[in-house]
Amino acid sequence: TIGGNLQRAVDTWPDRDALVDVPSGRRWTYAEFGAAVGELARGLLARGVAKGDRVGIWAVNCPEWVLVQYATARVGAIMVNINPAYRAHELAYVLRQSGISVLISSTGHKGTDYRELVAEVAPECPRLRERVFIGEESWGALVASAASVTSEQLAAREAELSCDDPVNIQYTSGTTGFPKGATLSHHNILNNGYWVGETIGYTEQDRVCLPVPFYHCFGMVMGNLGATSHGACIVIPAPSFEPAATLKAVQDERCTSLYGVPTMFIAELNLPDFAAYDLSSLRTGIMAGSPCPVEVMKRVVAEMHMAEVSICYGMTETSPVSLQTRRDDDLERRTGTVGRVLPHIEVKVVDPATGVTVPRGEPGELCTRGYSVMLGYWDDPERTAEVVDAGRWMHTGDLAVLREDGYGQIVGRIKDMIIRGGENIYPREIEEFLYGHPRIADVQVVGVPDEKYGEEVLACVILRDPADTLTLDELRDYCRDRLAHYKVPSRLRILESFPMTVSGKVRKVELREGYGEPAE
Ligand code: ATP
Ligand code: MG
Repeated sequence: TIGGNLQRAVDTWPDRDALVDVPSGRRWTYAEFGAAVGELARGLLARGVAKGDRVGIWAVNCPEWVLVQYATARVGAIMVNINPAYRAHELAYVLRQSGISVLISSTGHKGTDYRELVAEVAPECPRLRERVFIGEESWGALVASAASVTSEQLAAREAELSCDDPVNIQYTSGTTGFPKGATLSHHNILNNGYWVGETIGYTEQDRVCLPVPFYHCFGMVMGNLGATSHGACIVIPAPSFEPAATLKAVQDERCTSLYGVPTMFIAELNLPDFAAYDLSSLRTGIMAGSPCPVEVMKRVVAEMHMAEVSICYGMTETSPVSLQTRRDDDLERRTGTVGRVLPHIEVKVVDPATGVTVPRGEPGELCTRGYSVMLGYWDDPERTAEVVDAGRWMHTGDLAVLREDGYGQIVGRIKDMIIRGGENIYPREIEEFLYGHPRIADVQVVGVPDEKYGEEVLACVILRDPADTLTLDELRDYCRDRLAHYKVPSRLRILESFPMTVSGKVRKVELREGYGEPAE
């Protein structure tokens, strides 16, 4: 179990750093972290948290988030990660859908008062019986109530747990629609975190900077579990992503590893004072969540010292990672693929229409199987059956190519593929091409309805210089003779930013709906 694995780290590396919170300057060694987790776990027992009870955590990144993650696992509760960007109606939905009885939240973030929102929705959530606010008296009282529970009582609870018990409900990013709650076991996420860390080569010497949100599997599994299962240290640079705070944390805490989605690395690299940060302690990191442009990857490797940066492919429903690059992979594999299949996971690529495996090297829907496949969507057997088939294969909804050498490539999401006049167009290919444009800082390509061709190619562009104006004709000139004519965008939108999920992904769905009208 996750608790058992943490105890091993506490026994093996008691004096190594486990957790550092840069904003508050607080830090915990493994011995201190283990003790703090144990105390909070006894507090939860004192409040009557039973095995299988759902405990919600609604907060931006802070050390208490991490304590709650491990303490809920120790008492056999199912922690429910709640997106910090949620507002009243989404919060009420998650509280009711997963039947949360204890909600632990911060007092608020960026002008939103979580206390008011919780008070507003509480009457609609009859199962919610305890509300605890981090940093307020109710948090202190929860911890203090540990005094009435002995360590023997906690040990007795732990003896009842199995690694196949559900430990976590994680909602998907909501990139393509409404988020779905994936129910995951100790075995699912602890093993995946371990293998991700093992592939990167983590040891107790590593210090992992995590600007990615804990509420998402990238932070809590690949980050927290990846680190603690190898005795490495979790470093929190800021409550939510801030490029400058991230690089400062890397520098001041001598981090060896840095995580991010591509847009985060782009923001860091584009800081005006980027060159002023000492990033020489970095060796590795993870880039995941969405495709990374080759140009960005080259700069991350060369200018951020991350020669071993790892590319991961995965999804919340599979704990999450299925494919990952290795430490010694060359730049071609690091930029052109998402690596090879992790140990104990199977993959196949099928024709989405027939389910028949396609020949190696041809695109199709990626399916994965193994310990990592979720128990199911919480309380939703119908939607579970839509993605996990009778043979326990997870149908990912992603188009992939499995090369002869065993390396996988993600071509795009089935839902994002553009079909223009019968031709299949993969937005990623056009995005890669347009990243090479000297005036373009970031670009997203989506299909929009068109009377003649069914769908047309829309390029949504963020320019390097906000004062610049790029015309459609100029863009088309740049593409001419270098891109097949049917792939050349026929629509252009210039934007200041893209609509994003909190996990840092672009919501193409909104680009299609909100900006789909032809440009003037
Ligand atoms: P929702 O399922 O709610 O629409 P989501 O699929 O974005 O949202 P996540 O589980 O956070 O939610 O993300 C998994 C998806 O992210 C994958 O299915 C894939 O489309 C994309 N993805 C993950 N890693 C990579 C990668 N390395 N390259 C390209 N795409 C990736
Ligand atoms: Mg998904």
